[in-house]
Amino acid sequence: MIELKDVHAHYGSIHAIKGISLTVPDASLVGIIGANGAGKTTTLRTISGIMHPTSGEILMDGEPIHHLGSSEIVKLGIAQCPEERKIWPQMDVLEHLELGAFSRKGNDGIQKDIQRVYEYFPRLEERKKQKAGTLSGGEQQMLAIGRALMSEPKIIMFDEPSLGLAPLLVEQIGKIIQEIHAAGTTVLLVEQNAFLALTLSEVCYVLETGQVALSGPSKELLQNEDVKRAYLGG
Ligand code: ATP
Repeated sequence: MIELKDVHAHYGSIHAIKGISLTVPDASLVGIIGANGAGKTTTLRTISGIMHPTSGEILMDGEPIHHLGSSEIVKLGIAQCPEERKIWPQMDVLEHLELGAFSRKGNDGIQKDIQRVYEYFPRLEERKKQKAGTLSGGEQQMLAIGRALMSEPKIIMFDEPSLGLAPLLVEQIGKIIQEIHAAGTTVLLVEQNAFLALTLSEVCYVLETGQVALSGPSKELLQNEDVKRAYLGG
């Protein structure tokens, strides 16, 4: 379980998140929605150790983790699938997947997990020797998800996986996220596509200007008039 307790984070003098508290229980699928600049990415960055909170606590199974660096966070079983995808253009698909396994102690199961990624995304198998820089945006998103899965995460955090994708692909990525969750991985899903996040998640947090404006069961938030007006196009 991941818990954020009154987490604040700054970029220099910019106070990006202002006292966020949230809980991601084991085996749950939790969503975070919010407009541009609401603090969604910053929240994920503080969990993944890319940046540190200026105050507050982040706990994993009751132990503080907010002082750890990103490679230590990956070793704890927390993987992030970043918004900007972080693909290396000159490396091929298979090399990315192998790199995703860097934090694993042995080679056991790596081949099996590569096959699992190929089952989720047959397109990646067809293109396993293709340089990642020549993949389409959707294929790069599949690769970013596949690479995150290769670290055998207990928790996987998706930052706007639907960004820039055609509707059919958004639907496909949504189904894969559900499958990953159904296979036992805890999921924290950040989305500007509020409908997608609210339909996939069990519980959702609504961020506004660096704070939690609203939270609750996603089914209830889908019916909430303020949420409908602000995030679901009325
Ligand atoms: P988006 O959906 O546009 O990615 P977001 O909800 O993820 O938005 P954040 O990226 O977390 O929002 O940004 C929160 C606040 O922090 C914003 O005011 C943003 O301008 C600011 N911010 C984000 N990154 C930086 C940075 N590298 N330097 C300075 N300010 C930043």
